[in-house]
Amino acid sequence: MNRMLYDRHPTVVIFFLAMLVGGEYLFLPAAWPSMGWFTKLTALVAVALPYTFLYLAYYSDPGFVTPETHAYYMSLYPYDHALFHPGRYCETCRLLKPARSKHCSICKRCVAKADHHCVFINLCVGYGNHHWFLALLLSTATLTAYGGLLGLSILSGVVRARFPGWSVWPPPGYGFNRYLVAWSWAVQRDVGLGATTLLAALTSPLVWALLFYTLYHVYCGTTTNESLKWSEMAEDMADGYAFTRPMRRDRERDFGTEPSCSRWPVEPAMAVVATSDGQPPVVREGMPPLAGEGDWQRVWKLKNVENMYDLGFRDNLADIFVQEYAFGKLREELPFKSPRRN
Ligand SMILES: [Zn+2]
Ligand SMILES: [Zn+2]
Repeated sequence: MNRMLYDRHPTVVIFFLAMLVGGEYLFLPAAWPSMGWFTKLTALVAVALPYTFLYLAYYSDPGFVTPETHAYYMSLYPYDHALFHPGRYCETCRLLKPARSKHCSICKRCVAKADHHCVFINLCVGYGNHHWFLALLLSTATLTAYGGLLGLSILSGVVRARFPGWSVWPPPGYGFNRYLVAWSWAVQRDVGLGATTLLAALTSPLVWALLFYTLYHVYCGTTTNESLKWSEMAEDMADGYAFTRPMRRDRERDFGTEPSCSRWPVEPAMAVVATSDGQPPVVREGMPPLAGEGDWQRVWKLKNVENMYDLGFRDNLADIFVQEYAFGKLREELPFKSPRRN
């Protein structure tokens, strides 16, 4: 059990593949004779895409922070001085944590722009594979919706041939019992087709919900990891334990712990700190100086601080799909060199 929880283990990947292969094995031969050539063609594409994106996501580098890639990932995102503060080390990897990164206890490495550890690909979702993860979700959502609707239309055609006057929405005056009897007759005629249609129709809303949940994070300019951090911050704010003060654009910075990120068009405008005693933050001996200038103000609501990683849905999405997206600047003018991206 411990092994299952704390190590990478492909159980869920195998289960996911078995559901895809098994469902298609039962569905396609039964549905094939009732499909036109265009339906056959689109069905083959819909079937192939989830395998393709699962393969690409599974064999991708999610953005593992290693001594070789560390400088590159440090240069991608600036510290926001709210969720991510410069100068913090990962004690396992023994490297400075890049902004937006997180150490994954299952992958046992830090992951750049970490979203979450996904059991369906048995790997973290991060800077290097967020685009494959979204493509996998979209293609799986499409496949289940397509399979469910196609199965329903084939089954209802079969039912109508045997029970005239029947339709998918119970027709008025038809009687719910008779409606169900017709359905179960059709399912029993071909149990494989009936069961996979039902399975697709039931799982499809879940996959679509997961896709929209992921897109909602993109819309907000956060990752799953960051939205958890923001909700913890919101609790500290509600308790009166969070403080903020402005930061100057021309402040001095220690480039050893906080390299400049020239592709990112925004600089942090305020420092946000939550304290453990509800008192404004103070500099302790041996600790690095606190960011920002002037007096600390208590901040009560998330809406009073800004998320500098949110640049609007279009740019947030482009940052996922375009390697080192430069927000309108020329990529050649940027100082970093990409190690590689799978
Ligand atoms: Zn680490
Ligand atoms: Zn992981």
